[in-house]
Amino acid sequence: MTDHEFKRAIEDIKQRAPIEEIVRGRVPELRRSGKLFEACCPFHEEKTPSFKVDPTKGTWHCYGACGDGGDVISFVMTSYGVEFKEAVEILAGQIGVEPPSFGGSRRDSGEFENGFELLKRAASYYRERLGDPEAAEAREYLDARGFDHETTLSFGLGWAPASGKAFFDFTRSEGISSDILEKTGLVRRNDRGPYDFFRGRLLFPIRDLRGRTVGFGARRLSDGPNAGPKYINSPESDWFQKSSLVYGLDLAVKEARKSGHLVLMEGYTDVIAAHQKGLTNTAAVLGTSTTDQHAKLLHRSGAQRISLVFDGDTAGREAAFRALNGLLPENYDLDVVQPPGGQDPCDVLMSEGLEPFKEALEGASDWFEFACDELDDLHGSALSQAVDRALALILRVQAPVHREDLVRRLSERLDMSVETLQGQLALTPEARAAVRDAERERRDEGAQPVPEAAFGNDDAQEPAESIRAHPHLRLAWGEIAGALLLDPSLVPMAVALVEKCELEDIHRVLEAIVELHGNLDAEINVGTVMTALGEDPARELIGRIIHHAEGADSPRALLDGAVRFLKRTQLEAERAEIQDRLAVPDIQDSERTNLLQRFKGLQEALLNLDHNAGALAPSH
Ligand SMILES: [Zn+2]
Repeated sequence: MTDHEFKRAIEDIKQRAPIEEIVRGRVPELRRSGKLFEACCPFHEEKTPSFKVDPTKGTWHCYGACGDGGDVISFVMTSYGVEFKEAVEILAGQIGVEPPSFGGSRRDSGEFENGFELLKRAASYYRERLGDPEAAEAREYLDARGFDHETTLSFGLGWAPASGKAFFDFTRSEGISSDILEKTGLVRRNDRGPYDFFRGRLLFPIRDLRGRTVGFGARRLSDGPNAGPKYINSPESDWFQKSSLVYGLDLAVKEARKSGHLVLMEGYTDVIAAHQKGLTNTAAVLGTSTTDQHAKLLHRSGAQRISLVFDGDTAGREAAFRALNGLLPENYDLDVVQPPGGQDPCDVLMSEGLEPFKEALEGASDWFEFACDELDDLHGSALSQAVDRALALILRVQAPVHREDLVRRLSERLDMSVETLQGQLALTPEARAAVRDAERERRDEGAQPVPEAAFGNDDAQEPAESIRAHPHLRLAWGEIAGALLLDPSLVPMAVALVEKCELEDIHRVLEAIVELHGNLDAEINVGTVMTALGEDPARELIGRIIHHAEGADSPRALLDGAVRFLKRTQLEAERAEIQDRLAVPDIQDSERTNLLQRFKGLQEALLNLDHNAGALAPSH
């Protein structure tokens, strides 16, 4: 499929998936209001509707706190928390067309879909078995925990018959090939033939963010010599990867997005209890460690604050440290909560209800306090080891200023000098590399605050440094793109400028606008520019760019201001260079005269720039 065909296919899907209908699927309250549709924004908490959908342009926009917007694809991306490719597949599924083929897919998509279908049937098969006489033990266990029928149903809990052949026999009667059964890990084979992987266990279906079953967690209920481990999971497969699955996130994502807060617990039953009691922003990371993939996936919930709920015992503390290690690089506000009374979270929720738990969440200690707790009363090598552990966590923090602040806090806490801690930090090679990085970043970053609307892009293609180094440049170039999007008649004035943009993602946005402008049949708006960008991650900048631009007096004023800023930045850089050269002690008189002349010229140009506000003069 060529690039052109791909964009045509995307355009076709957008045409056939009217944005107001797709949005209404997620936001049933969507109402017509004049030419637009409106509702309270599904992505932030509000009482008056500031979320608008424009059916003519095929776009959405939140005029409130999130200030985000885009086309129907970006709506699906945001509301399901999925990437571009998945969003297109969801839309294609909803309107019943084949999704376009994306480059680089190694999986046989037919088989991949069959696997999902099989896992879905397996989940419903096991769910039905929970009503069988054989499953009395499982029902008693669920009763004892206090789970009601509705909760059991919404989490799809099931029972795997003990015989070891029941599921396999069922699939045979359904004509399902044994090949896919083994690939999904539901059935295994030994020298006596195929047998069910899950036998005589309570099953917790594990779903991806889209709510598709990808595998199962399974708890044994009775003890016995050959009972096996208390919990087992589906084996790793194309569908099931523990390192990138968060249990319950499909159900938690809605509330987490609204409140910006996600609660992470340790086990299936904790999550289920929390949801039953109304704490619906709760999920659990799968596996014993929180990986980088988990940490990234959690961003899709839109949460900025994550509360880690862990038992107060040693195992719980270890688990909390591992979770912090995974989550710290992703820049969440993290706190650590111990369940009231040090009990099992599920038990506390069920016996005492939500209130004590909510209080514990309110009173949670900041992760750093938690990490420092164990330092008290330690001496010698035990202290040294504990400090190493705290420092290792500090090294995971990406923002240099934050990191330095934490080292300072740690030094106060321990009553030790910052230098001593930095000495300790420098002991490991990994630490040395991190310190070097931090110093380089600090040099690059300078002291300038980052403008709020600098159109940062999570998936930016450029090295992160270049974005941090030029937040004001990003803002100016984003403003230029915004001005052109709002008033395409300005495009001819800015064409010469576009090639000077060195920020790759914004440059691609600008190029898309210029190209559309060259095509006389094409309209320029958020929807058409996003289609033109195809699967380029730069498309995700557009919502914020337009939101920022709409706040300006006029597109023309915005363009003038941004161009003036770029011009000034350039003149100031030249002036600084001349000042450096003038500062050389043994400079020759002729060169000094020459430089002073140029210095004066630059001074005047800078003054003129301030006086001639409004003159659009692209730099040379
Ligand atoms: Zn909003």
